[in-house]
Amino acid sequence: MIDLVKIHVKAGDGGRGCVAWRREKYYPNGGPAGGDGGNGGDIWFAVDTNEMTLAKLKFTHSVKAGNGAPGLIKKMHGKSGDDIVIPVPLGTMIRNAGSGDLLADLTKPGQKVMIAQGGKGGLGNYHFATARNDAPEYAQPGEVGESLDLQIELRLLADAGLIGFPSVGKSTFLSIVTSAKPEIAAYPFTTLEPNIGVVDLPDGRGFVLADMPGLIEGAGEGKGLGHEFLRHIRRCRVLIHIIDMSGAERSPIEDYEIINHELATYDGELDQKPQIVVANKMDDEYSALHLEEFKKKYPSLKVYEISALQKKGLDAVLYAAMAEIEEAKKKDEENKAPQEETVIYRYQPKRPDFYIEKDAPNRWKVVSQKVDHLSDQYDLSIEEQAFQFAEALDKMGVDDALRAAGAKNGDQVIVNNHILDFKD
Ligand code: GDP
Ligand code: MG
Repeated sequence: MIDLVKIHVKAGDGGRGCVAWRREKYYPNGGPAGGDGGNGGDIWFAVDTNEMTLAKLKFTHSVKAGNGAPGLIKKMHGKSGDDIVIPVPLGTMIRNAGSGDLLADLTKPGQKVMIAQGGKGGLGNYHFATARNDAPEYAQPGEVGESLDLQIELRLLADAGLIGFPSVGKSTFLSIVTSAKPEIAAYPFTTLEPNIGVVDLPDGRGFVLADMPGLIEGAGEGKGLGHEFLRHIRRCRVLIHIIDMSGAERSPIEDYEIINHELATYDGELDQKPQIVVANKMDDEYSALHLEEFKKKYPSLKVYEISALQKKGLDAVLYAAMAEIEEAKKKDEENKAPQEETVIYRYQPKRPDFYIEKDAPNRWKVVSQKVDHLSDQYDLSIEEQAFQFAEALDKMGVDDALRAAGAKNGDQVIVNNHILDFKD
């Protein structure tokens, strides 16, 4: 099961603005008419309820949205870069892999969030015409699209979770009460991926139910597959504990105790969750006898008798689960339980755009992806462009930062592969 992946995302860069001139019959020297560059494409994540795992992202190391096209003549816009929308399952949490910040917590069907924004297209030269210069040779470069490393984690989001030993009938139960199609096997078979489905009650209420893969003895201490899945049930409001009452495989009482022990040893207060205890396979000839013993052992415990195979007794379980879920939701509201973590829902760059390093006495270096990219957009051998570049750096605060770092008039400043003179 794939529920933790890392990928790199890069939004598209903005296209550069165009330098062009109007050439019309009666205006041989028409004004500037270079169009704006297109915006870079954004990277989005969207909930797709057909997705059950992050498996599709497992071999995706990086995702890149389209770059904006350069601006065109006659003030025409360059084409915008294509957005990328990455479909993920419900319950996907997206973090900045570097800082660990939670960027988005996708908890609702249809939810969609932008994680990396494309760079804006640069303005064409017609924007820069002034009284002093009606023929600007300058157009803006496009901005760099956001780029970041993400850690993507899936936490199954279900109101109710089916727990119990392998082969007790969890998948059968899920397949009957929802439209999910889990694998059902006659032999002890551990589902490797949790299945999830929506229960629609006849009265219009409903909840999300997940089939938790078989808990294995020792899962609470990190042994076996079960441990992987225990964290998924942390968000469930109620657990539906299914016991195979036929006793064909194992002892029902022992099964019940072992599973509860697993829950208690896992540190997620899983044993505090409301549990609906279900005796399955009541159609089997030995079940009645085992149930009697079970009830003797736990006289005050409410046990729901069902036969998943014969579809008997299922509604009572569903209504009981619904009631527990509503009760838990009400309690949450009363306590105004704070969210597990504050969710930002949108990437906020926290890194500075650049920083200054001392390279040598009287020599400084501007370290910045953004500035490097910007410098590539100018031909610094052309005086006007070099001037515009210097102005852009000043606007970004580079000059102030150099001054603050101790740069003096006449010092050298390395920007990308250029060496500039610092004029204070
Ligand atoms: P899971 O491992 O808990 O998901 O169990 P499955 O749903 O895969 O079922 C295991 C086996 O038990 C399958 O052969 C089912 O047909 C069978 N089974 C499930 N429910 C019942 C039931 O109510 N009565 C009987 N007799 N067999 C059942
Ligand atoms: Mg199963």
